[in-house]
Amino acid sequence: MAEKFTVPDGWVVQAYQYALDPTPAQSPVLESHAGGARFAYNTMLAAVTANLSQRDAERSYGIATEDLTPRMSWSFQSLRNDFNHRKHQVAVREDGTPWWGENSKEVYANACQNLAAGLKNWDDSRTGRRQGPRVGFPSFKSKRSTKKFAFTTGTIRVEADRHHVTLPRVGTVRVHESTRKLARRLEHATARVLKATVRFARGRWLVSFTCVVQRAPQRPAHVKRVASVVGVDVGVNDLVVAATPEGREVLRVRASREFAHASAKLRALARKAARQHGRWDTATKTRREPSAGWLRTQQAIAKQHVRVGNLRRDRLHKLTTELAQSFEVIGTETLAVKNMMAAGGTGKKGLNRSIADAGLGELSRQLDYKTRWYKSVRVQADRWYPSSKTCSGCGCVKTKLSLAERLYVCDNNDCGLQIDRDLNAAINLARMARAEHSACFDTGGADRKTTAPAAPVAAKPESSNGSASPQGEAA
Ligand SMILES: [Zn+2]
Repeated sequence: MAEKFTVPDGWVVQAYQYALDPTPAQSPVLESHAGGARFAYNTMLAAVTANLSQRDAERSYGIATEDLTPRMSWSFQSLRNDFNHRKHQVAVREDGTPWWGENSKEVYANACQNLAAGLKNWDDSRTGRRQGPRVGFPSFKSKRSTKKFAFTTGTIRVEADRHHVTLPRVGTVRVHESTRKLARRLEHATARVLKATVRFARGRWLVSFTCVVQRAPQRPAHVKRVASVVGVDVGVNDLVVAATPEGREVLRVRASREFAHASAKLRALARKAARQHGRWDTATKTRREPSAGWLRTQQAIAKQHVRVGNLRRDRLHKLTTELAQSFEVIGTETLAVKNMMAAGGTGKKGLNRSIADAGLGELSRQLDYKTRWYKSVRVQADRWYPSSKTCSGCGCVKTKLSLAERLYVCDNNDCGLQIDRDLNAAINLARMARAEHSACFDTGGADRKTTAPAAPVAAKPESSNGSASPQGEAA
């Protein structure tokens, strides 16, 4: 488990996720494993924190660095061994009977591994060895944290009937949808399970198999290439437009009617809850006992959130698959989604919500691995590339273009082009992609912005497009 696993050539890491239908007897076993994982994580985090505070206190008394209490090792192995010593004292009930043996020991080991990774990320981020946003010190997991645990060894099996999976200690659990895609691959030895992660999300237990999968990058034979180069613009109103460099619109995808309906219902439920006697009394600014009606509405809201999320995930997966299969070179913009969402405040609510809705980051992530699967290429525009402000007719760049302007009107009197804003941006992105891609091939393909078909495998598991989850495991 600890040694670094390297993915062989021609294989990729991919996750297959399924919803579980545990029996009434199995649900408590899943709960117990999740609780055990949380306990191991918190126990070892408390030990690490105590060790750090001890050293801080000693330092404040003027004790020399070499005489301080030694720093506890944060490696996975030593955290796991330490927990295995401690569990006899701490993982016991009030009457003294130990409970740790009721769960697979794998979940404790995995919790220690997660903690070790969290500590390392924090340390690397603090000392500048890790790029990107600052990583905080690991925090304790509360009872409201996501219930989650994982197995890396033991009996992890996808049953031949395509409707059950077997997990260590938990046993054989029924799976909601067919496991056909993964089962077939396992039977043909073109996939191997590395890890099974179980978590409670969207109101149910889910299992995610992280696998290495043999995948020759190629386009499925039945799919026709629609065009060789396209630009893809993700508009603010949940709209995606693709166009060729010649200005032909090849794809326009709006939010489905189902999705719009589900979102509207969600908003209506939120308004309803606001009229009911909720948990928070705004008049006195105190907590209070909510009404039964409010609680019912909250349940309906949670259910509707799941539905909206599922519809969005499904639509996004279908869209990215279509794009990656139908085109050879796909140009997209680079939105600093995180920055845009953070800088908004109340004034930008609409835009922020739309960006979050459109899931541009997720679209980008899916395109990244699907273009590798289907042997197409993704070209990302430079962060400052003015895809929306540039005129696709004459190339002049506007200084200002508000989000409300849905029609692009060129300021250049000789040109005077009037064109749909999103189509204009898509055409510009297509031209950018064409230019970058040919430049990249001329120079031997060393361009960093281009995802070449044979690029190294991403470390993050990729979701298969048949199953539901786009979420990474590390979250
Ligand atoms: Zn123009």
